[in-house]
Amino acid sequence: MKIAFFDTKPYDKPSFDRYAKEQGITIKYFETKLNEDTASLAEGYDAVCVFVNDNVNSVVIDKLVDYGVNLVALRCAGFNNVDIKYAYGKIHVLRVPAYSPYAVAEHTMAMLLTSIRRIHKAYIRTRDFNFSLSGMTGCDLYGKTVGVIGTGRIGRVFINICRGFGMKVLAYDKYPYEGLEDGENIKYVELNELFEKADIISLHCPLTEDTYHIIDEQSLEKCKKGVIILNTSRGALVDAEALLKAIKARKVGGACLDVYEEEADFFFEDYSGHILDDDILARLISMPNVIVTSHQAFLTEEALMNIAETTINNIVEYSRNKECPNELCYRGGSAVDCRSGKCF
Ligand code: NAD
Repeated sequence: MKIAFFDTKPYDKPSFDRYAKEQGITIKYFETKLNEDTASLAEGYDAVCVFVNDNVNSVVIDKLVDYGVNLVALRCAGFNNVDIKYAYGKIHVLRVPAYSPYAVAEHTMAMLLTSIRRIHKAYIRTRDFNFSLSGMTGCDLYGKTVGVIGTGRIGRVFINICRGFGMKVLAYDKYPYEGLEDGENIKYVELNELFEKADIISLHCPLTEDTYHIIDEQSLEKCKKGVIILNTSRGALVDAEALLKAIKARKVGGACLDVYEEEADFFFEDYSGHILDDDILARLISMPNVIVTSHQAFLTEEALMNIAETTINNIVEYSRNKECPNELCYRGGSAVDCRSGKCF
């Protein structure tokens, strides 16, 4: 079995080499992302292994099929970069539905604490022997209300962490999780109520037609003045232009973004010697109350090992049995998780 591995970073190799060797799989690592121009590199391989910013659109799918590639093995949970509808019946798409919800949920809290306790400012100040506290006043999380949109694996871990801080939780999910409400501090509400009452809003839903720009000008208008927006899910859940406008208007008090709508052009690469062409990203980064990380919420040792193990197992399982529970199908107008039958 031969796999063409796209968008390779140095931290991918140790874990994938380990599990591929155990299963007798050969991996060719390509640094380039998979797209219409690079799909030809996959010729002669059985599978492609792709990440969040590889583009598996209809043209790429047709090319992969022509080159005899059977499988698209996503080494991530989200699949908004794959045209599942078009792929269905042509090429099999496998994913890693869960690898470490803790990694993402803990990063979300790390960003929130950094923002509200001004750790990013303090780090720079004290390195310059500036021990002044002016402008460093933060706020307690205890007693604050967090609105969590998407109560799947990551959302629920994040809720647990927030409960540890003594926060109240207003949750919203298209498919609420039975047993999550505790009759006191955690309750499901409609989106409008969440927008109106939350001090902090954290996004943990997938990017779908329903959730595209779930944070936009209209929803931000409904929010409390000073609301903090956390997005460690997918960039296009937030209309970045509307967010910037609301930050400039002092409506939004802080934003912690691990993902960005146009991240595929920049994230994971070093642009430190360049002039950034994206004015919205540049302006967001320039704000004192915005923290941007480069889609790194998943990046822990534990998550990397789990990702590699599940991705390789998916491929092996598919090649042996011609089916795999972690396959994505398309039925009734939406993508479906084959294991759970859950629609997206
Ligand atoms: P999950 O499938 O366990 O949970 C997603 C939840 O969103 C589900 O409960 C689902 O019912 C809900 N949902 C679906 N449509 C919705 C809608 N229209 N409105 C509200 N809720 C809706 O997924 P997860 O493992 O918790 O991951 C959540 C998201 O986190 C992924 O989709 C992915 O985009 C993102 N993610 C980011 C990183 C990172 O490094 N930043 C890493 C992993 C996952």
